[in-house]
Amino acid sequence: MKNLLLIVAALSLLVSEWTLAQPYHIVIKNGHVIDPKNNVDAVMDVAILDGKIAKVAKNIDATGARQVVNAKGLYVTPGIIDIHTHVFFGTNMDQTYSNGPNALPPDGFTFRNGVTTIVDAGCSGWRDFETFKKQTIDASQTRVLALLNIVGSGMRGGKFEQNIEDMDAKATAEMAKKYPEQVVGIKLAHFNGYDWTPTDRAVEAGKLADKPVMIDFGGSKPTLSIEELFLKRLRPGDIFTHCFGQLATREPILDVTTNKLKPFVWEAQKKGIIFDVGYGGISFAFSQAIPALKSGFYPNTISTDIHTGSMNNAMKDMLNVMSKFMAMGMDLKSVIKASTWSPAQAIKRPELGHLTEGAEADVALLDVVDGKFAVRDTGYFGFFDYTGHKIEGKQKLACEMTIRKGRIVYDLNGIAEPIVVRQRPQ
Ligand SMILES: [Zn+2]
Repeated sequence: MKNLLLIVAALSLLVSEWTLAQPYHIVIKNGHVIDPKNNVDAVMDVAILDGKIAKVAKNIDATGARQVVNAKGLYVTPGIIDIHTHVFFGTNMDQTYSNGPNALPPDGFTFRNGVTTIVDAGCSGWRDFETFKKQTIDASQTRVLALLNIVGSGMRGGKFEQNIEDMDAKATAEMAKKYPEQVVGIKLAHFNGYDWTPTDRAVEAGKLADKPVMIDFGGSKPTLSIEELFLKRLRPGDIFTHCFGQLATREPILDVTTNKLKPFVWEAQKKGIIFDVGYGGISFAFSQAIPALKSGFYPNTISTDIHTGSMNNAMKDMLNVMSKFMAMGMDLKSVIKASTWSPAQAIKRPELGHLTEGAEADVALLDVVDGKFAVRDTGYFGFFDYTGHKIEGKQKLACEMTIRKGRIVYDLNGIAEPIVVRQRPQ
């Protein structure tokens, strides 16, 4: 009898411990959840516990939650993934994007845009990746992943990026395999010349490391054939960035004389080539994107190519680029998909980019701001490209809140209740 009582007492203690442990850390109430991977597009609550998505359902009980967020009128999406950024910032003033002044510190631009994961697109190569990892990846709250430059010394500018001798597929693949958590692929960028060797070396490294490559086609006169690139040189799953660029030194995907997409581009997308926006400074032109979208061609992934140059010009930030695609007629759900689940798949990280129960809780709360709050009383927002081509949009995305790994890291208007959670004594 005494034993039985003890067991009952122990059990009731366990039960009360269990019920005490149950309240969620964060409950986001009444937001419109868009989670393309799980085909969710409805008003739902989202509960977070221990850094993970605990539940997505209607009317989740928020009793006892540490923080409750009123998301009425907002969209709740997976944390945004930007697969083309430049973040190997440093003080080597003559090294541009490689430990130099043209790159940015990740946390300085990500969370205010709902972005929780970024991919550095080739700032570092196998020679300097470990420095990049130590000073940027390991020191950031943003999840920072990397495409290794096929050039061993990364994106140092000038003659360094033209040095075919330093494009070592084996050494690049070995570094990629040494850091499978952080390195998601190989990057070719900025090579100028009528020569397939850099492309082939990048693909060779990609094959050795079993990872995709991202191609920024640099420039050459005459231009290298993108039909050959897509259909002969690249593998399904390889990424073509700057897909809406229109420069004399790069072949564009849209025939500018007929304003029609070149037929092999459809074939290439069907084959599995990933068409990535990689907006950048001069790598996006409405003259390419508008007719392409009108004909039903959507980019697979939306990304910024953010650096100190592009961020203060036409590109600005991820939400501005996403808003431009809405202004061109791409629906919100497709825009969210191209900025969450599709990039996660492109970098072969299927655990990211969705709100499945058990997934790490990276979440964005976005507002679709109506045109009546736009520039003065014009009723629209203005979106322009680097050529001065301007279009008008009735809506613009704004970030209200960003949650990274189950913790609120950005709250524009203090919509969390309470705003600050005091640490409990251990
Ligand atoms: Zn870039």
